[in-house]
Amino acid sequence: MEKIKLGISACLLGEPVRYDGQHKLDPFLRDTLGRYVDFVPVCPEAEVGLGIPREAMHLGGDPADPRLVVVKTGIDHTDRMNVWARRRVGQLEQEGLWGFIFKSRSPSCGTEGVKVFTANGMAVKAGIGLFAAAFMAHFPLLPVEEEGRLQDPDLRENFIERIFTLQRWREMLAGGKTLRSLIAFHAAHKYLLLSHSEVHCRRMGKLVAAGRALQTADLFARYETLLLQAMSLKSTPSRSSSATTGEKKKTRGDSVGAGL
Ligand code: SF4
Repeated sequence: MEKIKLGISACLLGEPVRYDGQHKLDPFLRDTLGRYVDFVPVCPEAEVGLGIPREAMHLGGDPADPRLVVVKTGIDHTDRMNVWARRRVGQLEQEGLWGFIFKSRSPSCGTEGVKVFTANGMAVKAGIGLFAAAFMAHFPLLPVEEEGRLQDPDLRENFIERIFTLQRWREMLAGGKTLRSLIAFHAAHKYLLLSHSEVHCRRMGKLVAAGRALQTADLFARYETLLLQAMSLKSTPSRSSSATTGEKKKTRGDSVGAGL
């Protein structure tokens, strides 16, 4: 079985790469989740060549299109970071990542609600870190989370479930793209999918049913898009109970997620 490969903000693994030379070790990620996955650590600010330690930076300007600037001097590193980020996500595509865990609130790594300091000096929690934004634009369907959100049991289960479902999907693909294997995959995951999105599950069922009339590559590409879209929607107790009436979900991702 191929091990899951997750990108991660390097400071979360205890690497002393922050602006002050410190780290932000998350023991759960390194010591617990780390038993099941291979991490690919990335520190955008260190890798782009800003040094360790370095001057603290924040996002400034228009929250919809913020700049990455040094707090004390106002030096603008936006263009340098964006050029590097586009190149780095291309390299990460070669790594075959299954998702990414980002450091929250960082002007480079935060995925939402990062403070942006506007011209009048007010801070608006509406920004996205520049590297996180480049990653999510390049991989719009891959699971991404922040370490803070993974403290929430529901969000953690959802993330774990997504990456293990993706693992089973990739294992199935590695065995060969056949209609028979797709039918078996869909049957095995039907209740899991229903617990996330009945609409997607039905569309996927129709797609599989029409499989013989479609080109194999097209069939699998469309199914994969729907699968990733469905799994990005949070499972709710009501969806789960209606999906599993009379039958319990039994997936490896569920059992490992519960064990975490
Ligand atoms: S939050 Fe991102 S840029 Fe900042 S130290 Fe951690 S990995 Fe590096």
